Amino acid sequence: MQEFDVVIIGGGPIGIACGLEAKKQGFTYIIIEKGPIVNSLFNYPVNMQFFSSSEKLEIDNIPFISKEAKPKRNEALEYYRRIVTSNDLNIHLFEKVLEVEKVDESFTIETDKDQYKAKNVIVATGFYDLPNKIKVPGEDLPKVSHYYNDPHFYASQKLAVVGASNSAIDAALECWRKGAEVTLIIRGPEVGQRVKYWVRPDIINRIEEGSIKAYYNSTVKEIKPHEIVLDTPEGEVTLANDFVLALTGYMPNFKFLEKLGIQLSEDEKRLPSYDPETMETNIPGLFLAGVICGGMETHKWFIENSRIHAPIIMKTIKEKQLVRKDS
Ligand SMILES: Cc1cc2nc3c(=O)[nH]c(=O)nc-3n(C[C@H](O)[C@H](O)[C@H](O)COP(=O)(O)OP(=O)(O)OC[C@H]3O[C@@H](n4cnc5c(N)ncnc54)[C@H](O)[C@@H]3O)c2cc1C
Repeated sequence: MQEFDVVIIGGGPIGIACGLEAKKQGFTYIIIEKGPIVNSLFNYPVNMQFFSSSEKLEIDNIPFISKEAKPKRNEALEYYRRIVTSNDLNIHLFEKVLEVEKVDESFTIETDKDQYKAKNVIVATGFYDLPNKIKVPGEDLPKVSHYYNDPHFYASQKLAVVGASNSAIDAALECWRKGAEVTLIIRGPEVGQRVKYWVRPDIINRIEEGSIKAYYNSTVKEIKPHEIVLDTPEGEVTLANDFVLALTGYMPNFKFLEKLGIQLSEDEKRLPSYDPETMETNIPGLFLAGVICGGMETHKWFIENSRIHAPIIMKTIKEKQLVRKDS
């Protein structure tokens, strides 16, 4: 069984930042990623543009040059891919971590391909795997998706988009511009306040001019093969419908965290327990990094503000090693 100073679970931007930092510190490490490099970003919409400017997505001060101030998905894939390949990072792709067990001072990590031992484990598994379901009859129909990719697919189709945040609004606008008949179903009274400042006026104008129909204070009651039924302030509304994009956010894999023994807060935020000074969880040697730290508050941490987790963790590990040697 191979043994490492650090095993990093998840090869997203923050897992990669941790790998770079571990290499810099001279630790033996491995990044284990269940998909391709930056799997979440790879699965973002093809035309997606970040809200952050490129320098805020940089890791380890490696320059990120993009055509416009705010980079597109493809440019981010290029950037993080080049970091992995140019730095020859030790990353295993298409390998999923199933179990992590701590015995005495050491962790055993079991994947669907192998087993590893480590002194320290970093969980950087993000939140993009599990959609927040709307929990209505018909949600499992093949015409319903919780992920949006390419607007071309929806051209000349009756598309219902559920949600009011960035993902839903981007999808509604793009699909309408490629010829879909778009209806937005928004639970609250308005388009989300966190929608990108240059996109929000665009969607509001499209709704006001009637190009995109929006139902506010409304929810989906049922999805049928050719219709969607809404609960609106005016009563039940049934619309003809070909496709539904339920873009109501995502959540971290709490079962995985609990299986690892990480304590979660009892409230609806389900915040994992960790020390922000060190990023160490209630289990010594087990760290959290990236967006996973926010529990259900998935908007709290993003690349911009969580890239600092990598140096914090490596500093902690280094100091602990020194303490062990000195004592
Ligand atoms: C549409 C959209 C736009 C965004 N725009 C911005 C922006 O402009 N600026 C910004 O800072 N942030 C933005 N974000 C948020 C940002 O993408 C995330 O915060 C970022 O991806 C977090 O990085 P991470 O490494 O923590 O998690 P992720 O990128 O989600 O990486 C986690 C990785 O772990 C892997 N994984 C999960 N479970 C396992 C397992 N058991 N075994 C092995 N591997 C596993 C996953 O495959 C994934 O690759 C955006 C998010 C979305 C959805």
